[in-house]
Amino acid sequence: MTIFNLGSINADLFYHLPHLPAPGETLASTEFRRGLGGKGANMSVAAARAAGHVVHIGAVGTDGRWAVERLLEYGVDTRHIAELGDTTGHAIILIDAAGENQIVLYPGANVALGQGQVTAALAGATPSDSLMFQNETNLQSFAAGLGQQKGMRVVYAAAPFDAEAVHGVIDRIDLLVLNQVEAAQLEAALGRGLGDLGISDIVVTLGAEGCRHLECQSGSDRHYPGIKVAAVDTTGAGDTFTGYLVAGLDRGMPMEQAIGRAQRAGALMVTRQGTADVIPDLRDLEDFRP
Ligand code: ADP
Repeated sequence: MTIFNLGSINADLFYHLPHLPAPGETLASTEFRRGLGGKGANMSVAAARAAGHVVHIGAVGTDGRWAVERLLEYGVDTRHIAELGDTTGHAIILIDAAGENQIVLYPGANVALGQGQVTAALAGATPSDSLMFQNETNLQSFAAGLGQQKGMRVVYAAAPFDAEAVHGVIDRIDLLVLNQVEAAQLEAALGRGLGDLGISDIVVTLGAEGCRHLECQSGSDRHYPGIKVAAVDTTGAGDTFTGYLVAGLDRGMPMEQAIGRAQRAGALMVTRQGTADVIPDLRDLEDFRP
């Protein structure tokens, strides 16, 4: 059972500043940090930390070798990550003394993937494998079509919201994972309620309030209450949740159990500062006493 994840790989570049720059202003940063990020990379790390066998399908530029090495270190199979001419996707994150931020995102190599790369990566995939993707790369629709053809479990994390990507994949997925804001955007873009999409399973994450699981066939809509923790940084909670959820299902866990574990991972994640580098592993979860 392999989880193929078509996903973004970003360099998160954090610059601390006394205040956010005004137009035309030049400011010296007082502190700089570079971390591995991108929703795709975060989900690959989370699924690998949850003991999933993860093959990441993506791309970096020649300036992104460190990111590929880090994914490898975290247990992700990186054979299908291409090195392309464009620069590695990155986020320039400016943070002022009060913690307020401004972010510039450049997708770079993440949106320059070729169909041949996806086809080659999925060549040996079987119906017991999963395919997941988000909205930070190109080729979601192409990959979803291939995954469906091969009978794989096709999982779509509809983040960040992208109406065009949604239209290309919505009829090809088995599991949809999204937060409340994305759920509202998706319903507005499609002019249909979540329950009318014909997708077997939909999980809507609700932050501190936990999540909802909708089963379209039976019409069931179950709420899982959130786990009480003192949140310090909510970045990456959704990505951690989704990676854990897919890894659980991939290992044959029933939905209820996979959601329970994903919620623990998401809750523990918000007590930590950072993204891919601090996603909890199974031992952390065992020791977690909220
Ligand atoms: P996203 O980061 O995509 O907006 P959410 O904020 O909904 O996603 O978080 C995903 C999951 O992480 C939630 O369903 C929940 O299980 C967990 N989680 C997130 N924030 C908190 C919190 N403040 N307290 C406890 N659990 C949380």
